[in-house]
Amino acid sequence: MRIKKIIKMSLLLFFLVFLTVILNGNITQTVHLQKYNKMKLVDSWFRGKFSSKEMLKVKDHLSPECKHLLQNVLKEVKYFPVPESEEDDTLDVSFVDTWQAERNYQGKRGHEGTDLMASENLRGLYPIVSMTDGTVTNIGWLEKGGYRIGITSESGIYYYYAHLESYAGQKKGDIVKAGEFLGYMGDSGYGPEGTVGKFAVHLHLGIYVYRGGEEISVNPYFVLLHLKNKKLKYAYS
Ligand SMILES: [Zn+2]
Repeated sequence: MRIKKIIKMSLLLFFLVFLTVILNGNITQTVHLQKYNKMKLVDSWFRGKFSSKEMLKVKDHLSPECKHLLQNVLKEVKYFPVPESEEDDTLDVSFVDTWQAERNYQGKRGHEGTDLMASENLRGLYPIVSMTDGTVTNIGWLEKGGYRIGITSESGIYYYYAHLESYAGQKKGDIVKAGEFLGYMGDSGYGPEGTVGKFAVHLHLGIYVYRGGEEISVNPYFVLLHLKNKKLKYAYS
């Protein structure tokens, strides 16, 4: 009789502990997910981990403005910005996550993009294509960006391609399609118009959104990872 009682009590106790653990876990998770629900576009985690696996796991819990930007970018990016060479498979680009890494030209600042480094340090060799459909909203020299081209998508997101060697010929206001040739990769920038050779040949890619006159950049690194298998093939060597 006594043993039965002890067993009963033990089972009850075990059940109560079990229930507490489960409820606690749920509460913790709810609190944990609430932070995504209130997230703003300027949130440093949102900008830095943009479209990463980590973010995609909680995407349904993101605030409407964050979810909207994420969905739009993932919907409109169609191609990796540097096509593969049909003629020479040693021509490749590599990139790592350098979001907010220190840059010092014209004062200390954080890197607001991803650099796609050329395996062959030759300007004018690698073609650059638009990742999205859109309109050319900026083209020409910028001291920091060199010969740059900016494409604004239909949803208003700004895709910035910098340090080009030359342009394909589009003008401001022209409509471009995803995969369209924009120009050749180079090493232009960091000086007056025409300056080259201040760094290795690469494409600097940036992604920006404008909110109430404010320019907000997000990390393109994970977006580029999603596009690694979406490379066009161009004939160049
Ligand atoms: Zn860069």
